[in-house]
This record gives sequence, structure tokens and C-alpha cells, in this order.
Amino acid sequence: MGLDLEFTPQDQIQARVSAARKSFLEHKTRDVEFRLVQLRKLYWAIKDHEHELVEACTQDLNKPQFETEVAESGWILNDIVFTTRNLHKWVKDEKAPDIDLSFKFMNPKIRKDPLGCVLVIGAFNFPFQLTLGPVIGAIAAGNTVVIKPSENAPRCAAVIQKVIEIGLDPSCYTVIQGAVPETQALLAERWDKIFFTGGANVGRIIAKAAAPHLTPVVLELGGMNPAIVTKNANPRLVARRMLWGKTMNAGQVCTSQNYLLVDRQLVPQVVEEFKKAYKEFFPKGAKDSPDYSRIINDGHYQRLKSMIDNTKGKILMGGTMDEKERFIEPTLVQVESVDDSLCTQESFGPFIPILPVENLDEAISLANGVQSTPLGLYPFGSKTDIEKILANTRSGGVSCNDAALHIPTLPFGGVGESGYGAYRGRASFDVWVHRRPITASPSWLESILSIRYPPYAGKLSKF
Ligand code: NAD
Repeated sequence: MGLDLEFTPQDQIQARVSAARKSFLEHKTRDVEFRLVQLRKLYWAIKDHEHELVEACTQDLNKPQFETEVAESGWILNDIVFTTRNLHKWVKDEKAPDIDLSFKFMNPKIRKDPLGCVLVIGAFNFPFQLTLGPVIGAIAAGNTVVIKPSENAPRCAAVIQKVIEIGLDPSCYTVIQGAVPETQALLAERWDKIFFTGGANVGRIIAKAAAPHLTPVVLELGGMNPAIVTKNANPRLVARRMLWGKTMNAGQVCTSQNYLLVDRQLVPQVVEEFKKAYKEFFPKGAKDSPDYSRIINDGHYQRLKSMIDNTKGKILMGGTMDEKERFIEPTLVQVESVDDSLCTQESFGPFIPILPVENLDEAISLANGVQSTPLGLYPFGSKTDIEKILANTRSGGVSCNDAALHIPTLPFGGVGESGYGAYRGRASFDVWVHRRPITASPSWLESILSIRYPPYAGKLSKF
């Protein structure tokens, strides 16, 4: 497979989008059996090319095969199975809830209509999971879909195109390859929904571009996810789980913690446990391990380098880097302020800044000050500590006593600055449909309904 990704010529983009829109308007994707066939074909296209997915993830990110099979190909295949198993149940008309007796005869129900022709823009870090995940839901819900993978994972983007072209009806589902100019050309089109995964700055660009057409948007963004470690936490559990959160995909994970607020009493034990866990995970060091990714490109490597160059904190573990390989060792740093360069922006890399705090109240107040609405929150401590943290914070999701984990079929999405809208599991279907209320008033109701017609004189008292 070549290194360069072939971008879609910009003068073809409008025609490709129009073709997908036309297919929707011809109702090609309305039939549920058609959707199921597409999903099954996509399943087999991925299954038959799984080795290419693994290879592409290795080339783009040096992603370990284990991580690709669990969090990319395996994840997507499971998602398709889950969706195809449940689709007949999900598409069924719903009985309208909480209906007043006087409207019951109108047979009120809610139909799940597809939205139309939709756009999915993917991120680089889990290129398959985060691009194809939303696509599965969009197909299931009966939309036609235009897919823009991240150009920053070019081999993965090429394999995404390959499996889509092998598996799916090209008149309904198409891949546009490109970077900013191609994405801008896509954003100039009219969409029925845009689903974007990426950074908050680009998220703002997407929302602005959608506004003139009143296009609804899902923004799956990142942010400054805190871990709060109280004096009642288990230091070994904290270290192993937090290290996992920052060594998986070399920390290029939107749900991984960005900083740890650790009760000062516990800091020495937590640091010792991090060192032990690092030796356990990578007995020969991360650089020589087959289980450790590389930073996606030079731009991100340099960004991370300047974060660590500018820290005022003390490096307690790791700290080595290799520019040629874009290798950054998992690095534990004790910082003294949330204004440190490691805490003021999402690292999206393998840095683990620890800030000692005096008590839980201070931790909560600091976490709310850095970003009051992160994507994830990771409280470690007693049940009472955790309830206190939950009651005094906000976040997209929470994993208590764990890192980064999000169960694949639970709704997943941000709140406030970490975005809006959610998908996965049943939510992946719901996010792509319009819940269309339908009533049917029988003609025999006319005698009752006639009360609504003018003249109104004397009628109000009958209500
Ligand atoms: P990014 O925002 O740089 O890129 C995402 C997509 O936007 C790419 O397809 C890219 O081509 C496109 N894009 C970039 N600049 C654009 C512009 N000016 N106009 C139009 N389109 C543009 O994000 P990334 O580097 O791929 O991913 C890192 C960020 O994404 C982090 O902030 C991370 O937290 C977040 N993220 C969030 C989730 C989530 O599910 N919430 C998942 C993964 C990553």
C-alpha cells in the first residue's frame, strides 16, 4: 500500500454528494432489509480485510495488533452484529407515551424516519472505530452517507475506502478523501446531519458551517479529563489503570485522563506504584515493546515536545523521546499548578501530570476550574468520596475507579465544551433518526372534534 493517500478531486465532491442525496430521495435506503444487507456486507468486507486494518494501524500509529483487534476491527464487527440483531426492534413504530385519553382514538405513534443524506467526519486516533462507528448507525437508520476519514491516518483512510467500496452500494455510501480544503468543500454542501469527531476548534468550524442550512450537528470533542484520587484510593489500582489509560495508543485517546489530582498523603505511594506498573507493562521499556504506539505525525510530536519542554514540573518516570521514530515514553511528572504547560491543554499523548492536593474539596474545585465539562472523569476513592465528586462535577461520562473505559453499547458523548450528541449501542440508531409523531383521526371522531371549530361561543366552558 502506498504512503500517499489519493485525495478526492475537489471538482468531484459536489457531484458525489448530489448522487448520495438523490439515492436518499429515491427512497433506496428506506427498506430495512436493504439496510441489513448493507450492514452484513460491510461486516464481511471488514472481516475479509482484517489483516489490512491491522497493517494500516501499524503503519500509521504503530498500533499493537491487540489494540487494533480489540478497539478497531473487533469493536466495529461487534457493533455491526449488535445493530443487525436489534434493528427490527429499533425501527418499530413506538406507541406514544403519556397520552391523554381524549387523544387515544387518534392512534398516536412515533415513527423513526431517516434524516436524509448525512456526513461523517472521522478522527485519526481510532480511525476505524471512530469513523465507521457512526456510519453503522447512519446506515441502520436508513440514511445515505458521505464519509470523510482523517487524512492524518492515511493508510487507515485508504482501507476504510476499500471496505466501503467493496461492501456497500456506491450510490448510497461514498468516501471523500482529503484534508482541510476537501472538508471545507464538503461543508459547503447541504446536509441533513453532520457527525464530527475531533478537536474543539475544528468543532466550532463545523457548527458554523452547518448553521446556514440549519443542519443538526453531533460534536464528539475532547478536553481536559481529570482523575481525582482521594486518600481512600488504592494506589496500585490507580497506577495500573491510569498507566493503561495513557499507554494505550500512546495516550492518543480522547477519554484518557489528562491530569491527576492526588491527595498529597498518597502521592509517594502512587508514584512508586506507577514505576512498578511501568516495569510490569513494559519489562524492556516502552521503546522496545511491540505493545506501544508512536505519535501520529511530526506536528503532534513537536506539540507534545514543547509541552514537556515548558513544564515546570519534576519528571519522576520516563521522559525519553526519539524524534525520528516519533516515540515519546510514558512520562510521569509532578506539577505544582494547574497552570503548568502539561495541564493547560489536552496532551493527547503519554504524559501523566500529577498535582498533589490537600483534600477532596480542593481537587473538585481545581477540576471544575480547568474545564467544568470534560469528556471523561475518573474518580478513585471510597463510595462516599465518589458520590461527593459526582454531585459536584459535570462530564460526558464517568468511570469510577478506572481509566478511559467506556462500555461500547452505552451512549457516549460530551457535554458543554466536550461536545454534544451521543452515539453507540441503541443511541447510534437514535442519533440518526427523526422521531416523527403520527396521528390518524378516524372520521367517526368528527362529532367530538367539531368542538374545535368556530364559532367558539360558549365552548370554552366544556373543556
Ligand atoms: P482534528 O479536529 O484535527 O481533525 C478531525 C477531522 O477534522 C479530520 O477529518 C480533519 O480532516 C478535519 N479537519 C481538520 N481541520 C479542519 C478544518 N479547518 N476545517 C474542516 N475540517 C477540518 O482532530 P484529530 O487530531 O483527528 O483528533 C484529536 C482531537 O479529537 C482531540 O481533541 C481528541 O480529544 C478529539 N477526539 C474526540 C473523540 C470523541 O469521541 N469525543 C474521539 C477521538 C478524538
